[in-house]
Amino acid sequence: MKFETLSIHKGNNITDSTKPVVQPVTLSTTFEHGNEQMLYTRLNNPNRQSLEQLVAALEKGEEAAAFSSGNAAGTAVFQALEPGSHIIAPDDMYHGLRFSIQQLFVGIHEVTFVDMSNPEEVKLAIRPNTKLIWTETPSNPLLKITDVRKISALAKAHGAILACDSTFATPVFQNPIELGADLVMHSSTKFFGGHSDVLGGVLVTKEKDGFWEKIRTVQRIGGAVPSPLDCYLLCRSIRTLAYRMKGHAQHAMILADFLQNHPKIEKVFYPGLKSHPGHEVAAAQMSGFGGIVSFMVKGGATEADQLVSKLRFFANATSLGGVESLIERRAAVEGPTSKTPPNLLRVSVGLEHTDDLLEDLAQALE
Ligand SMILES: *Cc1c(COP(=O)(O)O)cnc(C)c1O
Repeated sequence: MKFETLSIHKGNNITDSTKPVVQPVTLSTTFEHGNEQMLYTRLNNPNRQSLEQLVAALEKGEEAAAFSSGNAAGTAVFQALEPGSHIIAPDDMYHGLRFSIQQLFVGIHEVTFVDMSNPEEVKLAIRPNTKLIWTETPSNPLLKITDVRKISALAKAHGAILACDSTFATPVFQNPIELGADLVMHSSTKFFGGHSDVLGGVLVTKEKDGFWEKIRTVQRIGGAVPSPLDCYLLCRSIRTLAYRMKGHAQHAMILADFLQNHPKIEKVFYPGLKSHPGHEVAAAQMSGFGGIVSFMVKGGATEADQLVSKLRFFANATSLGGVESLIERRAAVEGPTSKTPPNLLRVSVGLEHTDDLLEDLAQALE
C-alpha cells in the first residue's frame, strides 16, 4: 500500500458485527479477563493500538508507542537510558525537550549540545559512555538540517542509539528509520493532529529490542498515555496527513520566497530555499520541506512584535502544524536562556489561500 492508502486504512480495526466503516471509540478502562489482547487502558486500549499500528506503518518501523504529549514521548527515551549515560543533543532543538534533559536528569545523565548540521562536531563529542545521539531535523526554530545518514554511521560505529525528532518533517516527507535511525519521535500535537485540538506524542522503533522493552515499561508503568478519544482523533486526523502536508509545504515555499525578497526582512530560514545551508542534505533525505518558516525582521524584537500585531490571518500563538497559520516570536517564549535571535519569528504556515496570506504579510510589513 502507498502512503495515502495506508493512512486511510491502517489500524482501522472493526470488530463490531454491525460493521461500522470507522472504528468506534472504546472508552472502557477495563476489559473482561480471558481475552488475550486487552486488560486495562493504561496498558493498552483498542484506539491506542490502532494509532500505534498506523504510525508504525507510516514510519516503516516495527512498533510504535503513543504518549500523552511529545514531551512525554521524548522524555521516555531519556528515562529508558541506564543512569550515567552521555547524550549528544543538538544546539538548536525543541526547548521543552532541552529542558527535560537538563532539568529532569541532573545527576543522572550527562549531555553535550553540538551543532548537528556539522557531523564533525558530533564525532568529537562522542565519549565512552555516549549511549544516545538525539537529533531533530528540521530543527525548531532555526530549521537546521542534520544529515541523518552520516550521524547514523557515527552512532553505529560507537554502538549508540540514534533517535530523531521528526515532528517538522512528518513521515510524509522523511522516514528517519530508512536513513539509519533506531527511534523516531513525533509530537502528534502538531501536524499529525493538524487541527490544534489534541495533545500527544509517539515513538517508533526500528526493531523490538531490549531498549524498546524499557520504553514500553516507561509508557505503561510511568503511565503518561493518551486517552482513547485522543487516539481516535489522531487516527482521524492522520487519514488526511499526506494532503495537508502537501498544502503546508507548498504554502511555506511561497511565503519563504516572498519574505526572502522583501526589503524589511533580514534573513529567512526554510530548507526549501536554495540559499539555506542545509538545502542539499534536506533534498537528499526529505521528499518535501515542511510547513514551518522562520525569519528575522530588520531591526529588533520591537519591529518583530509590531509586525505580529498587524497581522489578521496569523494568530499570535505557540504550537504549529494546524490548518490555521500561527506566528510567534520564539525568544519571548523560550525564556532568558534562549539562544534564538530576538527578532526571529516562526510561522506555522496554514492551509488558508496563499493570496490572503501574502496580502496580509504585505500590509503588515508596509
Ligand atoms: C512541540 C514539539 C515537541 C513537544 O511536543 P508536545 O506535544 O508539546 O509535548 C517536541 N519536539 C518538537 C520539534 C516540537 O515542535
